[in-house]
Amino acid sequence: MANVNVYRPLPQLGRFLNLCGPTPLVPVQLRDDAPMIWCKLEFLNPSGSTKDRIARYMLEKAWRMGHLREGGTVVEASSGSTSIALALTCAQMGLKFVAVMPEGVSHERILMIRAYGAEIILVPREAGIRGAIDTAERYATQHGALHTRQFENPDNAEAHRLWTGQEILSQIPRGMVHAVVSGVGTGGTIVGLYSAFSQAGCPTIPVAARPVRVGGEGPHAEIECCSFSTRVPGVVDGISKLYTHAALPGLRELDVDEEDALRTTKALIRKGFPVGPSTGLNFCAAEQIARELGPDAQVVTVFADRMERYFSTELFAS
Ligand code: PMP
Repeated sequence: MANVNVYRPLPQLGRFLNLCGPTPLVPVQLRDDAPMIWCKLEFLNPSGSTKDRIARYMLEKAWRMGHLREGGTVVEASSGSTSIALALTCAQMGLKFVAVMPEGVSHERILMIRAYGAEIILVPREAGIRGAIDTAERYATQHGALHTRQFENPDNAEAHRLWTGQEILSQIPRGMVHAVVSGVGTGGTIVGLYSAFSQAGCPTIPVAARPVRVGGEGPHAEIECCSFSTRVPGVVDGISKLYTHAALPGLRELDVDEEDALRTTKALIRKGFPVGPSTGLNFCAAEQIARELGPDAQVVTVFADRMERYFSTELFAS
């Protein structure tokens, strides 16, 4: 009998869409004395991030439900990866995409989004991501566009529960996950993956990685799209209903010095994983919980996006 508890793509929406996932799950150990972490290589998705999953899942769901048809318009408030992913997915599905974001977003991102034929509406930096959400909502009403509302759309987390999470369960030895670690932007990743693992019977501890600034002065890392970072363009602190309303029993919130997150990102790149800063953050927190749980624990984290979109940031400054 067909397993109904997994994501089934709509093949008629374009053959290129089928290139999203499955991504490898690989064990990564940075030093001999460091713990080994199971890492999901989500930067291998077509737009270069895990957000391809949610873009595709949210749009296909809307399409199936008749809320979207060819030539329609999609709008979303996002300063980063979600906009790039939606721009690519809309290009593949024959849809128009409008990205609303606060000023100050890196040039690489703007170039990528425009290259896919999407439109960008910038709101003043002070308005932040909340201002962008309000503008997206107004745009949707005025133009009859679909606002995907990634911060509250349950299909964001569902994409990870039914798709990324099921892949991981089929890839990891014994289908067993003892802890799942992710930085939190919308919360879709941690909520969806935790649900997949706990519903499969794993005694999984959900771990939210929080970038913190230790030591005051000096250059400050940009950890893109994680709600606890103080220096992210378009910080999304506390606005994600998906995360704040989710049931995550036993949730651990682990602080990671942003300097360590950046150092670890560079170490991962030197190992041949072309990742961005949130991956370094994830990996640091994963090592912390793995040390605590001991060598038999299988700890999973996500390598969320690619390094190329950070060329103009501190990660590549020296
Ligand atoms: N890493 C990157 C690069 C992101 O852009 C985001 C969120 N936009 C995250 C991690 C966090 O993922 P989530 O939104 O699922 O919490």
